[in-house]
Amino acid sequence: MLRLTLRASSRIVLSRTDKHWMHVIPVTRKPYIERNIVKFSDLGLKKPILSTLAREGYQTPTPIQMQAIPPVLEGRDVVGLAQTGTGKTAAFALPLLHRLSDGHDGGHQGGAARPVRVLILSPTRELAAQIEKAVHVYSRDLPLRSTCVVGGVPIKRQINALRNGVDILVATPGRLEDLVSQKALRLDRVEAVVLDEADQMLDIGFMPAIRRILRLLPKGRQTLLFSATMPKEIKALSADHLRDPIEVSVAPVAATADRIDQTVMHMQSGDKVSAIAKLVRTHPGKRIIVFTRTKRGADKVAKKLNVEGLGAGAIHGNKSQGQRQRALATFREGRNPVLIATDIAARGIDVPGVELVVNYDLPNVPESYVHRIGRTARAGASGLAVSFCAGDEIKQLRAIEKLIRQEIPALAVDGSHIPERAAQPSLRGPKRAQPQQNRRRRRRYGNKQKATA
Ligand code: AMP
Repeated sequence: MLRLTLRASSRIVLSRTDKHWMHVIPVTRKPYIERNIVKFSDLGLKKPILSTLAREGYQTPTPIQMQAIPPVLEGRDVVGLAQTGTGKTAAFALPLLHRLSDGHDGGHQGGAARPVRVLILSPTRELAAQIEKAVHVYSRDLPLRSTCVVGGVPIKRQINALRNGVDILVATPGRLEDLVSQKALRLDRVEAVVLDEADQMLDIGFMPAIRRILRLLPKGRQTLLFSATMPKEIKALSADHLRDPIEVSVAPVAATADRIDQTVMHMQSGDKVSAIAKLVRTHPGKRIIVFTRTKRGADKVAKKLNVEGLGAGAIHGNKSQGQRQRALATFREGRNPVLIATDIAARGIDVPGVELVVNYDLPNVPESYVHRIGRTARAGASGLAVSFCAGDEIKQLRAIEKLIRQEIPALAVDGSHIPERAAQPSLRGPKRAQPQQNRRRRRRYGNKQKATA
């Protein structure tokens, strides 16, 4: 497969990643790669889309957009290695809208005469809603209709919306299958399908449903698969259901951590509740997301902050869809400055202007750390991430530091930076000797330590 990798320097690097290199980019597209495109208009998108982007303030395509838009416009299957925050929604939505609106007569048809032509599958309800919102914005000047169907809300309204005719359907797999089994939805006219955050769908257990849904779609359709990581199950899915895909990727997940000012606070787990209240109080007016490992932890933190009058909402798997939507809305509108979330509930949440991400607990999977802190520093902005680390979380901290290839500087609870040496004893308990720790750290990171302000 031919892999296009866009590094932070915006230089496109072409590399042949394996021996199947018949998926060479057609000669007609070569100029895009060589010219190093900087404007949306260079990508061949039609005027109504370009004017919407200008209105939205999108000046230049992000790296994933530069790479994915041309092949999607050409009708190619694409595997995109990119996480949220990279602009991947527009990377698939814009060229698909362009293609859909070609030859569309203006939208007088409805019902069976207007079957679903683009299907976008998302792992979570929140992400589905967010994608549909973006599609709605991008297609404002196009004669296209979109809707979102997810679980946790009455199905009746969704059935009615589908009856009225929908061009672009954004769905979570479970509700989509319900609608198909109730014969409220036909998928035999789908021209393109997008599998967004495929690795999350795998984690949640949606893979069998995804395969069943793909089998219902026409064979000649276009398939786009986006994923932050490429576990073997996703590679197998791609091999089974995509045709000659072009692989596009932006810098690996760990690299995005570079733009974020990260610190760690070492403390006893029993001190975390008071530390979070203190931290929130010292960041007045800032939009803050706090991640906890458990649902109970999320509720506990929310309760503490609300008791102190610090305005917090929580989203996690035990909250109803309505509760989650309300918590998100109050956070988005700034009525509650703090949102507490578990990893799964926070997937794909895109709230602009998040200035601080707090890891109340460190995640067990180091990649989750990068996903979490990526909630700040969206679309090129910078951000701040503070992690609470109790004595029994040192192992997770080390795994994270290994992944992001940097040591996270320690911060005292009053916000001042702790010199490296002073921070060390609390990392491993007072019994360990310092020289040994320093030797280990040198082995782990080399002598060059990255300085973070
Ligand atoms: P996504 O990765 O699709 O979740 O997008 C992350 C955020 O970046 C969203 O708020 C988008 O509206 C924004 N965005 C996407 N593409 C661009 C662009 N080319 N210029 C500026 N912002 C963008």
